[in-house]
Amino acid sequence: MSCEMMEWPDPLQKNQTTVIDVPPSHLILMLTLYDLCRLSGRLMRHVMRGYTLVELLIAIAIVVLLLAILLPALNVAREHARRVKCMSNVRQLTAAWLMYANDNRGHFCSSEMQYVIPDQTSGFADYALAGVVAPPNCFWSWIADGAEHQDIARGVLWPYLKNLEVYYCPNDTFLPDTVYAINGLLAGRVGLPTTLFMLSQIRRPERTFVFIEAGPTYSSPGSMNNCGDAGDPTAMLVPPDASFATPFYPAATFGQLPGAYHSIGATNGTPVAFADGHVVFWEFTNSSGYGNARSSFAGAAGYSADVVQLEAWSGGPIPPNSNP
Ligand SMILES: [Zn+2]
Repeated sequence: MSCEMMEWPDPLQKNQTTVIDVPPSHLILMLTLYDLCRLSGRLMRHVMRGYTLVELLIAIAIVVLLLAILLPALNVAREHARRVKCMSNVRQLTAAWLMYANDNRGHFCSSEMQYVIPDQTSGFADYALAGVVAPPNCFWSWIADGAEHQDIARGVLWPYLKNLEVYYCPNDTFLPDTVYAINGLLAGRVGLPTTLFMLSQIRRPERTFVFIEAGPTYSSPGSMNNCGDAGDPTAMLVPPDASFATPFYPAATFGQLPGAYHSIGATNGTPVAFADGHVVFWEFTNSSGYGNARSSFAGAAGYSADVVQLEAWSGGPIPPNSNP
């Protein structure tokens, strides 16, 4: 019986070569990783030794160039966002105004600001012309007269809103405490004795504005007094603050200037909310705007397309050839 010894390979045997079968794709990956490691090592050495002055200047120039390119686009985007916010504000105010009217058998709140204390009936001083008798101790203004935030919260629209931000344009830095303005024809002094007091009296709700941005008045808030005289049927009394006074057709001038707090390039405009609840952004034909330049008040006289537009939205007689 023969016994053959089997020979096992000696694991410690020198000079033995082992072939490892590596797929080509793995080989390429390994080489790529190797190159990346070398490159990062070079970069680290470069960073560690610091930048030269020329390299720093070039980097700064590139950053400045990028900022110059991006900033105008960022400003336009920011203005668009603020327009959306502003339009949302007047939409909410108008919704509150409609809810108040619906809760009061169709009667508007007063667009004139009353003092809460001590004379709660002061807002009715002129309504006798319209045959309205002031009820005793009645307060029905959308905001109270005064220059403090609590005067907003005292208004009859506050229970529907309960948010001060809704009353202010995010762009109004000229008079930051000026709230939006409400159409003075709607239970206000404008148009007496044809002032409107109920929803059913509005002939075209979709073309009768309720809230708008008012520009700064000629000298100071509440002091403007050039809207006509008592003998003129289109004349108005001095508009109180936050009650927007616009003369009806055939007046040829603005009574109160619309605000121009929203500019992009050469365009200016303001959101306008209507009695049916919809809101538009009104871009002025006069691209210089009205609200920001007090000197433009005198220049606004004459039958400009913007005057016709606002008259068409006033709720009064509609100008001929208007395209509201
Ligand atoms: Zn605004």
